[in-house]
Amino acid sequence: MTSSARFFKLKIVPVPNRETVVRSSVGGCPIMPRGAAWPHCRTCAVPMVHVLQLDGIAGSPLRLGEHLLVFQCRNWNDIPEFPPESGALPDGHWDRGEGHYAFFLTPPGTDEYVLDAETALNISELVPEETREVTKDMGRAQKFVTGKRAFKLGGVPSWAQGPRVLRCGCGAEMEFLIEVPADLPFPKDPSTPEQRNAYSKTKFYLFLGNEIYLFACSRRCHPQALWAIVQ
Ligand SMILES: [Zn+2]
Ligand SMILES: [Zn+2]
Repeated sequence: MTSSARFFKLKIVPVPNRETVVRSSVGGCPIMPRGAAWPHCRTCAVPMVHVLQLDGIAGSPLRLGEHLLVFQCRNWNDIPEFPPESGALPDGHWDRGEGHYAFFLTPPGTDEYVLDAETALNISELVPEETREVTKDMGRAQKFVTGKRAFKLGGVPSWAQGPRVLRCGCGAEMEFLIEVPADLPFPKDPSTPEQRNAYSKTKFYLFLGNEIYLFACSRRCHPQALWAIVQ
């Protein structure tokens, strides 16, 4: 059985000057709550790479006024720790584990400031384009619906290895925000050393280039109550 869902395709459009402030970007200047420090890797203690940020859009799961940020360690290209098979994430999961990546969801109305530009990546603007996808009901006993494989906000995950939906440690459902398709390259600044374990000398990958489905607590219980399912 098929039906359709609305989503926003995320187009990567290069911007010539790294210092240009773009609210939805790959690389560029992170926009964070005033006073927040640039995130560091919990294990290596080095500043992480600001991989992307995205402003919320009315009618999308990333709500209007919200701002999503994704960081990953510049030394450590690996997948997140494996989550529990099913059920709820541990309480305060963002403070546990190796901490070689970080997600932030700034709530609407936050007093923000602009940090210095990321130097490891070339800056691009992320341009959302509203469209629709055909979703397929895979007809299993468990609810199993898949959407289009794309770099996208909203819609339905394409689930390379089948659905895996967890609850937040607070008990609320996790809500699907964005998908990063497998092997999506983020353009690296030419002066940046080669990323470890990457397939490319010139590109930067998130979580080894796996397919990524990023979820947030539907109750928004904490600005870091997000989780990536990586397949
Ligand atoms: Zn690290
Ligand atoms: Zn929660």
